[in-house]
Amino acid sequence: MSDLSDTEELLLLTSSLRRHLQRGAQVGARVARDNRSEGKASPGKSAGSIAGSSAELFSPGAPSLGASNLEELRAAIGDCRRCKLCSGRTHLVFGVGNPRAKLLFVGEGPGRDEDLQGEPFVGRAGQLLTDIITKGIGLRREDVYIANVVKCRPPDNRNPEPDEVAACEPFLKKQIELISPEIIVGLGKFAVQTLLQTKMPITKLRGNWHTYYGIKLMPTFHPAYLLRNPADKKLVWEDIKKVIKEMRREHS
Ligand code: URA
Repeated sequence: MSDLSDTEELLLLTSSLRRHLQRGAQVGARVARDNRSEGKASPGKSAGSIAGSSAELFSPGAPSLGASNLEELRAAIGDCRRCKLCSGRTHLVFGVGNPRAKLLFVGEGPGRDEDLQGEPFVGRAGQLLTDIITKGIGLRREDVYIANVVKCRPPDNRNPEPDEVAACEPFLKKQIELISPEIIVGLGKFAVQTLLQTKMPITKLRGNWHTYYGIKLMPTFHPAYLLRNPADKKLVWEDIKKVIKEMRREHS
């Protein structure tokens, strides 16, 4: 039973709805601007896209829709028991970084180090991602946001299963809505195929701009793949150069 009076509850709901609509309007304006500039902009071509508008990303019915910031969303997720990954986790790895980041990196799910520390991309692959952000892009790790498709470690680092993705992906969607980045970098086959709802190989997807509910998405190889295949670092650098160029274009 709530301790709030009806009037207080109504006021809270109204202010939450107002913030939600304001953010939707901001993103809508940005999407409209992107659509207007299509054709001259480099991300115009999209081999595989979630063609929906931002309005669908923000559709009612998504869990924790009432969350108006990342702290509220984290609180709403709570001590999550929505899928079987909860039984093996040490920490739920929500995400880290600037809640208003223009650049969002999305990986697959926590590994062992991330599960132990409660932060995404802190192991060897994470060090490589940090190098990409700091040495490659020239930003600090805390300037961007880093999240995963699933928030709990799959056993033995196996791929997350469909029921696990179904339980967790809505929280990623909500994170994306709240952060409202200009660009998403999808890290690796699993994250990219999940975001774009495609089975197209990462070798075909990477290096090309796609759209995720109106937000530009650049797929690239996963840093863990690069640890095993260092020769492909040059391809990731090509992808990251496109991201840097697009960020400069956005702010010119
Ligand atoms: N791999 C991922 O996809 N995410 C992490 O957080 C760490 C490794």
